[in-house]
Amino acid sequence: MKIYILTDMEGISGIGRCEMVMPDEGGQHYQYGRKCLTEDINAAVAGAFDGGATDVVVNDGHGGGRHLILEQADPRALYERPVSGYHLMPSLDESFDGLFAVGAHAMAGTIDAFLDHTQSSATWHNYWINGELHGEVGQCAAFAGHYAVPLVLVTGDEAACGEARRLYDDPITVAVKKAQGRETATCIHPQKAREMIRQGARQAMELIGSKQPWVLEPPITVRLEVYRADVIDRMAESDRVKRIDARTVEMTVNSALEILKWA
Ligand SMILES: [Zn+2]
Repeated sequence: MKIYILTDMEGISGIGRCEMVMPDEGGQHYQYGRKCLTEDINAAVAGAFDGGATDVVVNDGHGGGRHLILEQADPRALYERPVSGYHLMPSLDESFDGLFAVGAHAMAGTIDAFLDHTQSSATWHNYWINGELHGEVGQCAAFAGHYAVPLVLVTGDEAACGEARRLYDDPITVAVKKAQGRETATCIHPQKAREMIRQGARQAMELIGSKQPWVLEPPITVRLEVYRADVIDRMAESDRVKRIDARTVEMTVNSALEILKWA
């Protein structure tokens, strides 16, 4: 069985302050965040192999994508990074059996969610797929669904886990922290959290075969609302995109792989 693990940093255990996910500003706090990221991923990889995985690919998916400490990461897995903002999971294809989202955060605008955002916390306010609000977990589930790969595990804060259970047919979730407002979180001890992640990953392996992928039948309509009109001024130059109002664009695409492809 082949498992694809998309990772992010905001939902990693032990990360309870925003500077811990910021390479340019975080200093020693960011370096500790990298260690936390690597250990949570090791726990998920271990749980996947415990549950019968034969191949695991890990995607270092947090912005910029050079965060994992590879020398400390499980040598049984393969490691890759997104190619670009819309080409998120380069080697994902029909040969995979399940998707894990490790370190996930809730969609932009979620209350009591640690560092909630959708793609850009600076410019994106709301993002809809076929009229329903979604965040990055949904975007990943949709990409995976294109290849008939189901989302079977989500780890992150309580808000991200709740969002995943509500919208994506109840994957196994492991909540490793609870946000106190947007910029701080109360964390379970990382050692305990990693045990929970390993166990959750093992349980998630048992869902494979029964869990349905999130398949979006084309045509698929996506809508994006940003914070200021100048962001849309640039996007609206594309023929693919229809401007709804000063701050909102919409496009209709024929593949879930294009739901982020605004230009
Ligand atoms: Zn991130």
